[in-house]
Amino acid sequence: MGDIKETIKNNAYLNSCDCPVCGKHIPRGYEERTFFCERCGTHLHQRAFTGKEVEVAIFDKEMDEYEDN
Ligand SMILES: [Zn+2]
Repeated sequence: MGDIKETIKNNAYLNSCDCPVCGKHIPRGYEERTFFCERCGTHLHQRAFTGKEVEVAIFDKEMDEYEDN
C-alpha cells in the first residue's frame, strides 16, 4: 500500500477536485471516497464536503439561476 494523497481544489459548487500530483481535473460527489487517478495512478482520498460547503454551493447555484432569468 502506497501513500494516499488528498485531492486538492475540492469544490462543492463545481463538484470537482484536482489530483495533487498531475493536476488532473476530476469530477466528484459530496461523499468521501478513495480512488486512483486515471492519469497518473496516484491513490487519492477525497474528503466529504461539510454541510456548510454544500449549503454555500446550493446557495451559489440558486443565485446563478436567478441571475440567468
Ligand atoms: Zn494524477
